[in-house]
Amino acid sequence: MAIVAPRRLRENAELAINGGRPCQPLPVEDTGVIREAADTVAEIIRTGQINYWRGGPQAKALERRFAQFIGKRGAFFHNSGSASLLTGLYALGVDEKSAVAISSSGFVASLNALYHRRSRPVFLPTCPRTLVCATDVGPWLMESIDVLLVTQLLGNVIDIDALLTSVKPNHLHEDASQALGSKLRGQYVGYRGEVSSFAGSNRKLLGAGHGGINVYDRDDIGERMRVIGHHGKASTQFGEVPGFNFRGGEMEAALALAALDRFEQKRQMRLDSAQAFRQPLVQAGLQLAEPPAGVDCSVVWFDTAIILPEEWSEERGWLVDALRMEGVPTWIYPSLIEMPWLRPWMESMGWWGERENALLAQERALWNRVFVVGSQMSCADSARCGEIVAGLLAVP
Ligand SMILES: *Cc1c(COP(=O)(O)O)cnc(C)c1O
Repeated sequence: MAIVAPRRLRENAELAINGGRPCQPLPVEDTGVIREAADTVAEIIRTGQINYWRGGPQAKALERRFAQFIGKRGAFFHNSGSASLLTGLYALGVDEKSAVAISSSGFVASLNALYHRRSRPVFLPTCPRTLVCATDVGPWLMESIDVLLVTQLLGNVIDIDALLTSVKPNHLHEDASQALGSKLRGQYVGYRGEVSSFAGSNRKLLGAGHGGINVYDRDDIGERMRVIGHHGKASTQFGEVPGFNFRGGEMEAALALAALDRFEQKRQMRLDSAQAFRQPLVQAGLQLAEPPAGVDCSVVWFDTAIILPEEWSEERGWLVDALRMEGVPTWIYPSLIEMPWLRPWMESMGWWGERENALLAQERALWNRVFVVGSQMSCADSARCGEIVAGLLAVP
């Protein structure tokens, strides 16, 4: 089945964006926060102790349970997902002498973390079918790689085992922020990283309201992260490294614990919601980001990505506005190599060359055709949004 031409849809006088019908409100968003945890949070407020040096009882309980859940030895709860990415890289020894291979498919926080360590990004291309990091990336790599930093964007799963055979880094850091609950070969996403980061901000399944968590196996790496996240201080008054105040608070830890108690139920809700959205789109023949073919994995979709035909590249911005006015909560992810500040910085370091030019063109051409809709709404809302998108884009 064909996709409508941009010109045809732009001429559709019935659309809200063309003044044809009233704008529709966006559906209620599932922020991931468990309301039943309100009493626990109130109790924490009554104690007056909402934050402890090196984490209080709630944060410690969360760290134990979350590490166990993923199958790792330890965890460190942070005050944001972005903070956990930065401490993770720092603890793995990333600095201005490091080369970090980073998937151009990702959320900007991972690239920002790398910038703040002043290390050299070596971008990896996006697979146009999965919209996560391609696994056969050998031709893009000319240098030896200290750390591989990959993002399981959309909740989709990268075949990390395959990727590691072509990158061969000294360390692996996973940004698993969107993929809590997704699995590769029977293990949760985040299990393979020497450090793996999960975000707890809005919409994330971690459900902290605001926070992030790193899991790890090596105690020395865990301790190093705690030092970095506590102003660079271990036990003495003096800092060992220039650190940050990144530890997570008790109220957020209690929220995340409550979300972990109900994880199965929340996971199923997100799965059902994504399925309800995807079904009419698949029926209409639209191209969606898919799990890697032939790989043993299961995906808890955080977002469903729709990949438009090329003729839509220039009109995607308009389409996103039009869909939002029809009541569909639509988002865009630019690829990381497109960040406007990146190229001037890399040029000033002598790090931008032909390879980067080629990859920028390739990534832009792909991501210009993509928009996403999240699974953080009720099944009924998802089904309705799927019908709207399919109804507008598919030529019957
Ligand atoms: C949300 C998110 C982050 C950042 O988390 P914050 O808690 O908002 O700082 C990092 N990476 C990915 C992939 C995310 O989706």
